[in-house]
Amino acid sequence: MDLSKSIDSAYKSFTEWKKVPFADRQKLLVKLADVLEKNKEKYAEIITLEMHKPISQSIAEIEKSAGMIQFYAKAENVLQPEKIKTEFDISDVHHDALGIILGVMPWNFPFWQVLRFAVPAILAGNVILLKHASICFGSGDEIENAFEKAGFPKFIFQNLRIGHSEIKSVLENPLVRGVSLTGSEKAGSEVAALAGKNIKKSILELGGSDAFIVLEDSDFEKAATEAPWAKLQNTGQICNAAKRFIVHERVEKEFVPRFIQEYNAYQPADPMKSETKLSKMARPDLADELESQYKKALRNGAEVVLALERISESEFRPGIILVKEGNPILQEELFGPLAILMIGKNDEEILKLANGIPFGLGNSVWTKDKRRAQFFVDNLESGTVSINKVTSSDVRLPFGGAKSSGYGVELSLQAIKEFTQIKTVVGN
Ligand code: NDP
Repeated sequence: MDLSKSIDSAYKSFTEWKKVPFADRQKLLVKLADVLEKNKEKYAEIITLEMHKPISQSIAEIEKSAGMIQFYAKAENVLQPEKIKTEFDISDVHHDALGIILGVMPWNFPFWQVLRFAVPAILAGNVILLKHASICFGSGDEIENAFEKAGFPKFIFQNLRIGHSEIKSVLENPLVRGVSLTGSEKAGSEVAALAGKNIKKSILELGGSDAFIVLEDSDFEKAATEAPWAKLQNTGQICNAAKRFIVHERVEKEFVPRFIQEYNAYQPADPMKSETKLSKMARPDLADELESQYKKALRNGAEVVLALERISESEFRPGIILVKEGNPILQEELFGPLAILMIGKNDEEILKLANGIPFGLGNSVWTKDKRRAQFFVDNLESGTVSINKVTSSDVRLPFGGAKSSGYGVELSLQAIKEFTQIKTVVGN
């Protein structure tokens, strides 16, 4: 692949695209959403073939992506120059597109993650180069084709079929002005270091180990019914999934059996069947990693609540382990069908358990008491706090992480400004 040719074509495209009015860019987004809707079965099948997500969840991913695009197609133009009152005739703040932005994207939501980053950046006048996860090049090609089918100018969005060792030369090219990465901490810190070295903006959306906190005054039956989905959707491979269920000791006896019962309803099956809720993991090495984390947790004192059982190269019967503070497994992300259960004595202790990890994406708290909810809202270290609901991203609301979960904002109107340059214009 001739990378410098792709970058030059992207730059030529950018010089024209940045002149296109915001409202005209939005008209093309309407068409893009249409292309996704019309091709959703085809795209969903590619996702499932590439990374094994149950087909109904792949279809839901395309529908959610189309909905997100429609949101931006109708969004207010937040890039209009802002007028600030000073003694000068002109004192305006402009938001100019940066240029070429690289996306380094993962396999867990092969369409959603890419489009979530690319669509607001393109609406702001940027153009995109994609380095997709190496098992998702087919999805990357289809996204590039979708932009073409929607009538976007050529080279607005290019899928580079490259390995991650080639990211360095892309980021060193002066025409590339920023990077957004979703993936592991390791990949994130390496890419952000490269971006920093080359003085380029970066956004990171990394791992999480979010808490699902069940207090004794909550509707814990509802919580127990929804908890398995919060963890096992996409076979447990979601950054902001609930990964640690922290339960008040006064409700342990009621919550836990119900939780296990509902959790057991998720058993691996053929991902192409519409009724399948759980499937195999995306790659065998990721299953190896989960199994070794399970053993590590047990070696360090975790107790088996429900055994994690490996039934093929990449498939598990989902497991649950009871973990106490101090177990080193709490410093890691469990990316697969293995949940952590923790028991807390009171709100202070539960908060300490929830915050005692390196990550912070989207914690959720279940309680009927508004004051107790507020205590957690004020003190949880995460980008999102959900109250009496499972955490999930919503295009209307900002999404991002705290601590080692990353930095920068995705989704909402704010994401349109993430890859823009503020330009101050002042004088008479
Ligand atoms: P990676 O972070 O390795 O992959 C995500 C993307 O980063 C891919 O495009 C990958 O390319 C690229 N990449 C990998 N290594 C580097 C590097 N050193 N420098 C630059 N780019 C790199 O995720 P894995 O697939 O290996 O999954 C490992 C763990 O990461 C998971 O178990 C989970 O904990 C976390 N993860 C988090 C995700 C999230 O949504 N936040 C999504 C996926 C994973 P290539 O495929 O070519 O290696």
